[in-house]
Amino acid sequence: MSKKNELLYEKKTVYELAGKEVTAAAFDYAGGYKNYLDEGKTEREALKISIALAEKKGYREYHLGDKISAGDKLYYNNRGKNLFVFSIGSEPINQGIRITAAHIDAPRIDLKQCPLYEDSGMGFFKTHYYGGIRKYQWVATPLALHGVVATKDGKVLDITIGEHESDPLLYINDLLPHLGHEQGKGTLEDGIKGEQLNVLVGSMPEDEEHSVKLHVMQILNEKYGITEDDFLSSELCVVPAAKARDVGLDRSLIGAYGHDDRVCAYPILTALLDSPDTTHTAMCILADKEETGSDGPSGMQCDLMLDLINEIALALGGNPAVVRANSKCLSADVSAAYDPNFPDVFEKRNTPLLGCGAVFTKFTGSRGKSGTNDASAEFIGWLRSIMAKDQVVWQAGELGKVDCGGGGTVAKFISKHNIDTIDLGVPVISMHAPYEVIAKVDLYETYRAVKAFYQY
Ligand code: MN
Ligand code: MN
Repeated sequence: MSKKNELLYEKKTVYELAGKEVTAAAFDYAGGYKNYLDEGKTEREALKISIALAEKKGYREYHLGDKISAGDKLYYNNRGKNLFVFSIGSEPINQGIRITAAHIDAPRIDLKQCPLYEDSGMGFFKTHYYGGIRKYQWVATPLALHGVVATKDGKVLDITIGEHESDPLLYINDLLPHLGHEQGKGTLEDGIKGEQLNVLVGSMPEDEEHSVKLHVMQILNEKYGITEDDFLSSELCVVPAAKARDVGLDRSLIGAYGHDDRVCAYPILTALLDSPDTTHTAMCILADKEETGSDGPSGMQCDLMLDLINEIALALGGNPAVVRANSKCLSADVSAAYDPNFPDVFEKRNTPLLGCGAVFTKFTGSRGKSGTNDASAEFIGWLRSIMAKDQVVWQAGELGKVDCGGGGTVAKFISKHNIDTIDLGVPVISMHAPYEVIAKVDLYETYRAVKAFYQY
């Protein structure tokens, strides 16, 4: 007869189960993560810092068709927005690949292709939001501009305004409460409309004969050499100007823009880079366009992952179908942490708790599990055994109450290729807000979970 504490399952925190040493390591690890967040506010920037980290560990650029051999450490840069980092193991390739995938795009506000205009003495950019934002959260808050402008003569200019203390900021106007009575009677959802998310960029003409708009364009021309028609071929994103900071008097939390999903991108990447001796072939995918449905050539619905698996399999004398059948994947994405301020939308027994470690989510979808990958019991059983080897603290997760809503991840775009896949990630407070919050120990346990996955 087992003892009572062996018969019953009780979720416990990382602090209870792992203790001071792991907590200290988690705080240490969080430092690198905060830097990663500040350096990479868009998918293009996150890709650049990820490549820099990989190159430091001896990874080199791979192009389709290049030779591949056991022991190679390579990365494939897809259009500057989507990165595949892979390490070829010593075992036969037909044993499969340990795949991890997170996304490096985050909800934000993009400029339209003809953005600049002037009205009533103010210069503005017209915008079209990207991903699932709550529009009312983006007004009256410090914002920055990040992105690229591709000119007709083939140059691609990087633009960043609003990140340095000496930079000007951008801003979206909101209504004052004195005149906001009617607006206040509406719902949160329609309080601010998409076409009201106009970004304030100036209010002063160069002289009385010219416009505010012309002045703004002159400033951009001086700094970047661009003209108004160059916006036609630009990708410019408005993101929160705030930096990642510790939150809480105990510094146990991190507040930042874009935890979803860089809080998973960073651990899956660093866990691979910190695994120098791999038996298994491992691949870490940092994807783009997850927040808009994973479409397009930099999203996970693109066939590029298959092309790379084929190239790897054939180069090493394997069979691509066998390689896929024996591969396993952690689709690394965030989950919603239980929030006692909003208990109505959560089912507490099955919602991740902050501080209780990495979250394995068997299925996502909405209502009757519609549109989900659903990891098999057998796969989760195997994962439990390897998590136990490294004493990783983890919990099961589900996104809110059954009939409350739902969501999806890239898991289904990977599992459809005959690859066992499960969602793994970090619980987040205020997901998709301009400033989200996570716990350092959950980030670190996710890193440890992924490291165990690459290793065993
Ligand atoms: Mn996500
Ligand atoms: Mn998201």
